Amino acid sequence: MTETLNHSQYYIELEDRYGAHNYHPLPVVLTKGRGVFVWDVEGKRYYDFLSAYSAVNQGHGHPRIVKVLQEQAQRLALTSRAFYNDKLGPYEKFITGYFGYDKVLPMNTGAEGVETAIKLVRKWAYEKKGIKPYEAKIITAEGNFHGRTVTIVSFSTDPEAKEGFGPYTPGFLTVPYNNLDALEQTLHQNPGTVAFLVEPIQGEAGVNVPDKGYLAGAKKLCEQYGCLLIADEIQTGIARTGKLLASQHENVRPDVLILGKALSGGVYPISAVLADDDIMLSIKPGQHGSTFGGNPIAAAVAVEALQVVKDEHLAENAARTGEIFRSELRKKTENIPLVKQIRGKGLLNAMVINDTPESDTAWNICLQLADKGLLAKPTHGNIIRFAPPLVITDDQINEAVDIIASVIRNYGG
Ligand SMILES: *Cc1c(COP(=O)(O)O)cnc(C)c1O
Repeated sequence: MTETLNHSQYYIELEDRYGAHNYHPLPVVLTKGRGVFVWDVEGKRYYDFLSAYSAVNQGHGHPRIVKVLQEQAQRLALTSRAFYNDKLGPYEKFITGYFGYDKVLPMNTGAEGVETAIKLVRKWAYEKKGIKPYEAKIITAEGNFHGRTVTIVSFSTDPEAKEGFGPYTPGFLTVPYNNLDALEQTLHQNPGTVAFLVEPIQGEAGVNVPDKGYLAGAKKLCEQYGCLLIADEIQTGIARTGKLLASQHENVRPDVLILGKALSGGVYPISAVLADDDIMLSIKPGQHGSTFGGNPIAAAVAVEALQVVKDEHLAENAARTGEIFRSELRKKTENIPLVKQIRGKGLLNAMVINDTPESDTAWNICLQLADKGLLAKPTHGNIIRFAPPLVITDDQINEAVDIIASVIRNYGG
């Protein structure tokens, strides 16, 4: 097979032959992106309704972010933390002021951010809370997604993510999501609990939006039992749900905040853990780190990416266009039995299809959406997530709703 005969097929076969089979992508080969759009190698344009799992909130190829990336790459890319650099300090001052915490610990991927938060609260527990070594427990929620490391899959409740990767890291408890009674009971029965790690909205589980008052109630219980609330806002943070942080919908300030994904606007892997001094200073020099964490490119890019979110009012835009998306899509798909529910907050939304989680209905619908010029991905056999870049306009969101509604209306018929 030559490269020119069947362009997409050529690249798909290369990945299939030479890459590990740890993903199951839609058969679309992308080569270019701008704003809310991406283009495949045949030149077909698509609305991007995944945004790289909410990493591209600021839109593909944002000129301001790309410019900073290019300039810093040419000037100084990496020093390691063996030396100071002139980008990290200003970034640390900027991001702590932006989110309102004393300190930040910079890492690269989301999973590293979660691992960092776990190490941090354990250290805090032994040094400040007087927990006996090594009896610290962390509560997690059913249906969670926090990444792919051995420790993180140790508390996954998704068999596909977890099974076959043991032995698992001990020290984690599981409670049902969106259930404060169960959380209280677990806190009560486990005095060695040091933290509750939770997503304000469960993204990978299928955009599970908890009841109003859940996060605020969880925070209150944590305070009552002297444990820390760790919010994993890697997917929900940075304006995705219509506020800068999803926690802000409930006026909750997490004790430990984990960010990633859109912290770079999708041009670079950047994650961060934020906390106040009492917690963050539990980790001392030599006890944790990363070669690339806090490198000059990351520091410069993150400042610009966060500044873009403010300057372009992306939280407000996500709130407004998200409302349009849900109300128009509900209107245009009502009385269609295939659609069970449309839910979400801001521009983190999902459609629940009237079929089983094991079915391939959502996958087949996504194939038809791609055919009509809109890319989305199932989170389960019966749930499709819709999460476009937050720079989307009212006209664009309405056009996207029309595409989705027409595919749903004509599906199988
Ligand atoms: C994507 C994600 C992670 C993991 O981030 P990686 O950069 O893929 O390691 C962790 N938590 C949540 C909520 C996520 O959405």
